[in-house]
Amino acid sequence: MVQVDLHVHVAGHGLAPMVRAARRAGLKVLGVAEHVFQFRGGRELVPGPALEGPLMEVGDYVARVRLAGGDDLAVRLGIEVDYRSGLELRLAEFLKPWPWDYVLGSVHDVDGRDIALVPDGDWPSHWAGYWRLLEGAAGCRLFDAVSHPLRLAALQPYRPADLAERLAALAELAAARGVALELNTDDLMVIPELQKTLLAACARAGTGVVVGSDAHHPRRVARAFGEAARALAAAGIGEVTAFSARRPEAVPLG
Ligand SMILES: [Zn+2]
Ligand SMILES: [Zn+2]
Repeated sequence: MVQVDLHVHVAGHGLAPMVRAARRAGLKVLGVAEHVFQFRGGRELVPGPALEGPLMEVGDYVARVRLAGGDDLAVRLGIEVDYRSGLELRLAEFLKPWPWDYVLGSVHDVDGRDIALVPDGDWPSHWAGYWRLLEGAAGCRLFDAVSHPLRLAALQPYRPADLAERLAALAELAAARGVALELNTDDLMVIPELQKTLLAACARAGTGVVVGSDAHHPRRVARAFGEAARALAAAGIGEVTAFSARRPEAVPLG
């Protein structure tokens, strides 16, 4: 059993219902990783995506998440930050004052366009741009883990011919930098075979694996974690990665 969900959002439905759902699901660790663009100060850096709830103050969020949970459930303070090339220093400045347990880096757009939208249908160069950003996120030292590295494959049917090789290279780069990659269970439901390719690449390279439901609603917390446990076991991976005060910790599959 996977007992750690490191990727839930609270902007839409609040923190307490997500914590209740985590307890119901029998989790031991819940990681709250709200989008950087949901925060005052963060939205100025990443202005594109639609708001998923009211804009929040980072200080309020930090205080609320740190008070949540208890002996039965550890609640970890995270944030999901859109990686954009050239923005690294400003993102680092934004993150610096706060006591994060971990920071997820993610790619939601390429050249300012949502990753699902390719007006000219040029998928090969779109994928090339996507890989560059994923590699940038894994290598920039801002992040503890890169979330949903296969999101572009989950959103559309085009597959580059070298996808398995690029995933292997990403897993190797991440392992070399001490960065984990995420098994995103939202994507696992859409592209189970590719997620297995990702896990095999992580197992070969020795890359840490974070599991996240990407829940934006309490019903989705720990969603498809049974499938996740089976996929991890099939890849020969016996533990997942959690973080406390930016240090990785291995949590065995229960
Ligand atoms: Zn995301
Ligand atoms: Zn997310």
